[in-house]
Amino acid sequence: MGVARDFIFFLSTKPAITNFIARKGMSLGFAQRFIPGETLDEVLAVAAQLNAQHRLVSLNHLGEHVSSEREANAAAENYKLMLEAINTHHLRGNISVKLTQLGLAFDRDLCRQLLEAIVERAAAFNNVVEVDMEESAYTEDTVNIVASLAQRWSNVGVALQAYLYRTERDLERLKSMGLKIRLVKGAYREPRSVAYQRKADVDENYRRLLDRLLQPPCRAAIATHDEKMLAEAQRLIGERRLAPEAYEFQMVYGIRRDLQDRLVEDGYALRIYLPFGRDWCPYFMRRLAERPANTWFVIKSLIRERAASPDGR
Ligand SMILES: Cc1cc2nc3c(=O)[nH]c(=O)nc-3n(C[C@H](O)[C@H](O)[C@H](O)COP(=O)(O)OP(=O)(O)OC[C@H]3O[C@@H](n4cnc5c(N)ncnc54)[C@H](O)[C@@H]3O)c2cc1C
Repeated sequence: MGVARDFIFFLSTKPAITNFIARKGMSLGFAQRFIPGETLDEVLAVAAQLNAQHRLVSLNHLGEHVSSEREANAAAENYKLMLEAINTHHLRGNISVKLTQLGLAFDRDLCRQLLEAIVERAAAFNNVVEVDMEESAYTEDTVNIVASLAQRWSNVGVALQAYLYRTERDLERLKSMGLKIRLVKGAYREPRSVAYQRKADVDENYRRLLDRLLQPPCRAAIATHDEKMLAEAQRLIGERRLAPEAYEFQMVYGIRRDLQDRLVEDGYALRIYLPFGRDWCPYFMRRLAERPANTWFVIKSLIRERAASPDGR
């Protein structure tokens, strides 16, 4: 889907580049465009501001692909603390979790157990856990884990990606179980064997899936910044007279604030995906790949730094 996008994905596999970006991103300020902070306190303050602007939030502690049980346990404990903090600060927000952060890549049972413990804690606070969808190697396990938890817990949701051929089947299965489903286009680089490559095909599938997702009864999250998809969703919501609790819109912190304002002004529920933490580089690189023009604000801040320090120090 574009040479520039492929090139950014290629760069994101090069430690020399990602280490450099990770070192400079916060100090030069270009990472803040998408990541409002590195600590829980920082993100809670931003969440409160967004709530005051009539936006819901979903907090995500950045991190993925952990490789030890210790790290997976620590991530799970952290999510429980976040749920407590959301409750204590009376925030209108939930959490979004990546399963490779809970050990999916090396121990499926551990991952399921940790996710269930988080979901149980969320239920105690009357809150919801949304599971992000990652690379296609994890789709089957992710769908199976959330489906098995949904048999016991109603406060769990999952993202499904319109670029995958398999998503129509997953949507039917999970929708019939009453899960909250967040429909996204898909942010990873996937091969032709599993995913549409052309933007037009992804968009067409998004429309098809949206039509199905918004068939009542539904618990839908329409997660896109694409004006055409938003218009289509609004048309379906109006035509079908969907109840306000049947759907919400979701957007990522820092992207298309004009559209965010418009949705809120029009009275729609909007949730902002709010990531925080030190391990922000992979997330940041995906945001660049979605819109290669974004690399300009990185390059510009590096040039500015260079100009301020001509000897290159
Ligand atoms: C709340 C939320 C949660 C998500 N969760 C997941 C997930 O779990 N798994 C997953 O694979 N993906 C996830 N995504 C990312 C998603 O898959 C897309 O990569 C991303 O949303 C861009 O696609 P789009 O629908 O906005 O449409 P596009 O057609 O890509 O973009 C439409 C317009 O939005 C703007 N835009 C989009 N991206 C950017 C950007 N990075 N910078 C600046 N402007 C931009 C541009 O104006 C662009 O023209 C999530 C997205 C959202 C909004």
